[in-house]
Amino acid sequence: MAERMLQFVRVAQRTPDKRAATARRTDFNEIYAPFDPKQAATQASRCSQCGVPFCSVHCPLSNNIPDWLKLTAEGRMEEAYEVASATNTFPEICGRICPQDRLCEGNCVIEKGFESVTIGAVERHIVETAFANDWVKPPAPRSENGMSVGIVGAGPGGLAAAEWLRRKGYDVHVYDRYDRVGGLLIYGIPGFKLEKQVVLRRWKLFEDAGIHFHMNVAVGRDIGLAELRARHSAVLIATGVYKARDMSAPGSGLAGIVPALDYLTASNRIGLGDSVPAYTDGTLDASGKDVVVIGGGDTAMDCVRTAVRQGAASVSCLYRRDKANMPGSMREVANAEEEGVRFIWLSAPEAFLGDEHVTAVRAAKMRLGLADASGRQSVEEVPGASFTVKADLVIKALGFDPEDLPRAFNEPELAVSRWGTLSIDRRSFMTALPGVFAAGDIVRGASLVVWAIRDGRDAAAAMHRYITNQQAAPLAAAAE
Ligand code: FAD
Ligand code: SF4
Ligand code: SF4
Repeated sequence: MAERMLQFVRVAQRTPDKRAATARRTDFNEIYAPFDPKQAATQASRCSQCGVPFCSVHCPLSNNIPDWLKLTAEGRMEEAYEVASATNTFPEICGRICPQDRLCEGNCVIEKGFESVTIGAVERHIVETAFANDWVKPPAPRSENGMSVGIVGAGPGGLAAAEWLRRKGYDVHVYDRYDRVGGLLIYGIPGFKLEKQVVLRRWKLFEDAGIHFHMNVAVGRDIGLAELRARHSAVLIATGVYKARDMSAPGSGLAGIVPALDYLTASNRIGLGDSVPAYTDGTLDASGKDVVVIGGGDTAMDCVRTAVRQGAASVSCLYRRDKANMPGSMREVANAEEEGVRFIWLSAPEAFLGDEHVTAVRAAKMRLGLADASGRQSVEEVPGASFTVKADLVIKALGFDPEDLPRAFNEPELAVSRWGTLSIDRRSFMTALPGVFAAGDIVRGASLVVWAIRDGRDAAAAMHRYITNQQAAPLAAAAE
């Protein structure tokens, strides 16, 4: 089945088949079908094997994309898997949920007029083939090094670090306040983008690798950071950002107005078979309701599409700018539109109406003004153009900030930026506390899975350097 490369002139781009909107509105299964081996090889063969591969340059993990595309085109799948997994803890997850249009694929330089190589779909195919053939093994160390590390947070940042450090022979302990591993991969991102068994399958591999998971343990509440520092040679903080941004407007205290992550977490838990009282009593269930989601990012897109699947009577999305200026991925906006979501661009809520429970949102019509210092167009209200949208469930998806970690961890010396994210030394990944490192959203602010993986990997290497130097220091002193 070996295919020659540079086939972009002959073979058209083909993205994976997408289930029809009518079918996908009724379940939480992923919407894209996987490539079959022939499709994957043919699509991979479109790559022109650039000398300077801009796809790799714009992948936060610097994945060796041209090599694994060539191996896939040649049907050498086990080798393709080795290359794809060498730089990425979760290639099958990135292949599904990276915004490829802004990263690797958006920078694929196939000659003008030809569509980019479908890198993400091939990456997913490589790893699914590896799982099907039992080539994916737990990350095993060559030997144990007798030292332990503590990792706070089992999201992609913490897990990428855990894998890297386990391979180096560390006794790795991961602490998380949730009952399942994955962070936002398990409780934030809905199944129609990332089916939960994909995340749970990795958890099993990490456990088989001997990584210890201490679940339902909130650091700062159940155990102190000081205790973790005493237990381990180094500690990584990868706790993400969870404080929902809020808005104050008349009526914002009415029942029926909920934060996005509460809503998505409940839906994900229901999908995993958990019992969620706030879902069962209807508070976090959109079924039969007129739903209004406020916001224009990926979290808002996940909320509108979840509400559709829960059987909402109508789903509207209010966003203060226009479609071209939306922060959310265009692919997800298109998917939401296909599934029946109504977007009301250039609109901002000014009041929530109702007696005890919300019944409607009154919104102001907005227009775009001149660009500000950042180059982004300002938005201003159109006077006298307010309108009302019926709503019995309003979901606020306005973004996230970090919680006050120095206070939560009772560590006033833990330095933070003016946005509340943890401050680290960019080269050593160390916080203001010696031996305490940080990675992922808690350092960057709300970002992407692929960046959390990259940070986790780099922070792990920095922790290894730190521990090795700490070990060497007394020996060097004794030798003097
Ligand atoms: P998280 O994934 O947030 O994990 C942090 C972990 O730390 C959690 O498990 C939490 O329980 C734990 N924790 C927090 N505090 C404590 C404590 N005190 N003690 C113990 N444990 C603690 N990115 C993409 O690339 N593609 C997408 O399609 C995408 N969709 C998204 C959809 C939604 C709804 C959201 C909210 C985000 C989305 N993102 C997406 C962003 C992405 O999920 C995050 O950037 C990424 O998960 C950050 O990883 P992290 O490891 O830093 O933190
Ligand atoms: Fe593209 Fe993300 Fe894969 Fe990198 S990790 S190659 S950005 S899909
Ligand atoms: Fe292949 Fe596109 Fe990467 Fe060039 S930029 S190596 S054509 S995938």
